[in-house]
Amino acid sequence: MTKKLKFASRAIHAGQEPDSKYGAISTPVFQTSTYVQKSPGEFYEKYDYSRAANPTRNALEKNLASLECGSHGLSFSSGVSAIAAVLHLLSTGDHVVLCDDVYGGTYRLFEKFFKKLGIEYDIVDMTNLETVEAAFKKSTKLIWLETPTNPLLRILDIKRLAELGKQHGALVAVDNTFATPYLQNPLLLGADIVCHSTTKYIGGHCDLIGGALIINDADLAEKLHFVLFSVGAVPGIWECYLTLRSTKTLHVRMDRHCKNACRIAEFLEGHPQVEKVIYPGLKSHPQHLLASEQMKDFGGMLSVYVKGGLEKAKAVLERTVLFALAESLGGVESLIEHPAIMTHASIPLELREELGISDNLLRLSVGIEDCGDLMADLDQALH
Ligand SMILES: *Cc1c(COP(=O)(O)O)cnc(C)c1O
Repeated sequence: MTKKLKFASRAIHAGQEPDSKYGAISTPVFQTSTYVQKSPGEFYEKYDYSRAANPTRNALEKNLASLECGSHGLSFSSGVSAIAAVLHLLSTGDHVVLCDDVYGGTYRLFEKFFKKLGIEYDIVDMTNLETVEAAFKKSTKLIWLETPTNPLLRILDIKRLAELGKQHGALVAVDNTFATPYLQNPLLLGADIVCHSTTKYIGGHCDLIGGALIINDADLAEKLHFVLFSVGAVPGIWECYLTLRSTKTLHVRMDRHCKNACRIAEFLEGHPQVEKVIYPGLKSHPQHLLASEQMKDFGGMLSVYVKGGLEKAKAVLERTVLFALAESLGGVESLIEHPAIMTHASIPLELREELGISDNLLRLSVGIEDCGDLMADLDQALH
């Protein structure tokens, strides 16, 4: 029934039928490791051990699957453990096409862990489809992308890239953390796997670490669940409960994140201390049109090149009051950070320079505070 409902209704109801025993409207927290059996192998429900499955976790998984328009959801202890689970599907000799300006932790998994197991990868600029096409090999089994990218907020054409992946027999995985399922649904555009760091917008309150995969294929879901169960990258039950509580307001929060970010992007674009603003909602963004087609709105992230070098950038970061200087993103509270020193320090310097992650680049996660207060805060910090 919930499939036909609109996003806001699914956010609140999918996977969350009232509890059958007491009628509790809020999904109970089943804080249990094991389940009593009636006789050996005969269960009350399907549950035997919480590393394999747990009712609270399952409610969250159903909810996330519904929001991403997938058939199966899997919850992980973090975004990176969800990413690692996908990489565990690969074998020695397999090749991956990876987008440049990818999340630093994703790059680290490829470079420091899976490379030594003989999984090769090539990093390509996926805004250029010909470059992507040229990167495929016979051994390519996976194409991994993020859009909008981090921190440069470039927009990749999910539909076209998924077609390319399919043509070459590769799985197509999209990290949808920045956009959230409210703004775009990669599975509907042809992707096989959607990945989330639920730590960010889905959790939405900077108070938990979590990850998820959403899939539209039972076999693939089964394989990924086998990884989840075997490596034990499962979330705690309170994290599941908190995440489920957060998805109920995802659409409301996202609307405000987008509205505030758009106004701030326009404000900063006209600011004398700013060299350049990157926000997909601005007409000056090179892929503004693609973003308008692919996304419902333009998101809450924006990046800014301030005038002056590292010292100026640092001064701004030290002076903001409402914008807290911190890594991470997607919470109700506004954050600001320095990608080159903080979130993207694990990317080699040459690649960072090539991409444009320079010393005067700042990344903002615009929260849902009063927009006038946020603009005043940035204004005083820039002067
Ligand atoms: C934060 C993040 C991750 C990693 O998630 P964790 O929950 O920190 O493990 C992956 N991808 C993107 C785009 C992220 O922003």
